[in-house]
Amino acid sequence: MDFVDVVVAVGVIGLLLRGLLRRGFTSGSVLLALVFGGLGLWRGLGPGPGWLVWPAVALVAVTVIEFVAAGIMGSRLPRLPMTEVKAQLLADSRSADGRRQLTLAVAPGGAVMMFGVWPDRASRDAVMPGGGCPVCLVEEVTAELAGPDTEALAGYRRDRAAGTNRLVVLTRRDDDGWDAALEPVQGSPKPFRTAGCPVHG
Ligand SMILES: [Zn+2]
Repeated sequence: MDFVDVVVAVGVIGLLLRGLLRRGFTSGSVLLALVFGGLGLWRGLGPGPGWLVWPAVALVAVTVIEFVAAGIMGSRLPRLPMTEVKAQLLADSRSADGRRQLTLAVAPGGAVMMFGVWPDRASRDAVMPGGGCPVCLVEEVTAELAGPDTEALAGYRRDRAAGTNRLVVLTRRDDDGWDAALEPVQGSPKPFRTAGCPVHG
């Protein structure tokens, strides 16, 4: 096994484990996985060790399946302008029989995840941004409900800038004010990469 095979084997097996353990792909990691999958197939079928074919095939298969599944999930979600989602969330959160708790997050693919608790029910919803920036939505709703100076908002921005996505948990107090707190996300902690947002780039 020469040096190229060692590098390819480490890359293929590392990416395969990462893909299996940590769900959520960015376009960059899909490309990297396909490049290493291709290199693994080339070395395994050609001049390198034959066993390299199997992790390379698994890596390509896992990547394609996850990518297609994410695409199907994303295309099934409703698409709404972020301004409309924001207006709906704020109207409900300020009405007497509205949500008592609202958990907001932006998934790595850009969908806005909303978990709401009402006095009589709870529901989990998701929308794809059909115009507007999902990260702005989370920050603006947090600022509107818990105040622009809430520590959670500063923490959300700081962690996101450092490469760690967060859930914002907004809880209505008895006086109808709101408290905000941060929680870790399940799955990939990679923040959604925004495009064309004047605030987030
Ligand atoms: Zn933004």
